[in-house]
Amino acid sequence: MTFTYIFGPVTSSRLGRSLGLDLLGRRVCSMDCLYCEVGITDELTARRDVYVSAATMLGELEQWRAENEILPDCVTLGGAGEPTLNSDMGEIIRGCRRIMPEVPVAVLTNSTLLGDPAVCEELALADIVLPSLDSLVEEEFTKLNRPCGGLSAAGIAESLVRFKAMFHGKIFLEILLAQGINDSEANLALLREFVARLSPDRVDVTTLSRPGAYPLAKAVSAEVRRQWCSELGSACNRLPGTPETSDAVFLRTGQRADLVERDQKAATDMIERSLRRRPQTPGQLALSLSLPLDKVESALASLERRGMIHTVENAPAAEDGTHGPFYSCQ
Ligand code: SF4
Repeated sequence: MTFTYIFGPVTSSRLGRSLGLDLLGRRVCSMDCLYCEVGITDELTARRDVYVSAATMLGELEQWRAENEILPDCVTLGGAGEPTLNSDMGEIIRGCRRIMPEVPVAVLTNSTLLGDPAVCEELALADIVLPSLDSLVEEEFTKLNRPCGGLSAAGIAESLVRFKAMFHGKIFLEILLAQGINDSEANLALLREFVARLSPDRVDVTTLSRPGAYPLAKAVSAEVRRQWCSELGSACNRLPGTPETSDAVFLRTGQRADLVERDQKAATDMIERSLRRRPQTPGQLALSLSLPLDKVESALASLERRGMIHTVENAPAAEDGTHGPFYSCQ
């Protein structure tokens, strides 16, 4: 089946193999950022609505789950605009948990709706929230993010701090730098203070990696990013690109270990199901299920220890030239 609102999994440095859910279906956002990679915002609004219903989204997710044996590392709510604008977001997060209970749910957000208690309550159902806040200098914020009327960088920063106090999951803050717009000393000083106050689990300082919605937005140099990383890192100790970040954040919390274990369990289940149909060698299983041989061997050892499979005595050599004994469930 082709999916309208589900994409990926794509590999993300922050979230691993991430399955994306587009909660808008079109370019609706509370900002019209110069650097936006999905293009110019068609509908600039802070009004929540059922842009894609929970029933539609979860119907697709059920279908995706039925068609895919290997789970993603993460389900990420995002899409072609600001996902918190979808008033079915809470129901969608609950549905993700029901359909894939083992998979953490992450939400990408531009942080603009965090002043709304209903949005915060729904967002707090997620495991990881990835808010962005590019500048605390109001003129820079207006120039770069081109928000809906009535939004200020200072107001968003306060809402983020309040949200952090009620949220039990992880917060990965993103700051995107555009040359000559928000890479100023004034912004760095304000964000340094803010990061120390917010104390997120991780900070990512990024820049444009491809052309944005407007040609005015240009990437900063690697040197500038490094400098910002080291300045902000002293406040939060989570430097992008150092062993303290990326997978290390997951390792610290034990989540990465859980993910590895879960992957192995999915592989073991697939192997057991396949062996119920016919006896096979480890090499055949690796080929047919697209799994690394060492993962197959470790799953077979575990199934054999538990008495769920056995080797087939006097089996002929595999015709396809793969090695090892035949295993069977029968
Ligand atoms: S907030 Fe995100 S989706 Fe909205 S315009 Fe900015 S970059 Fe694009």
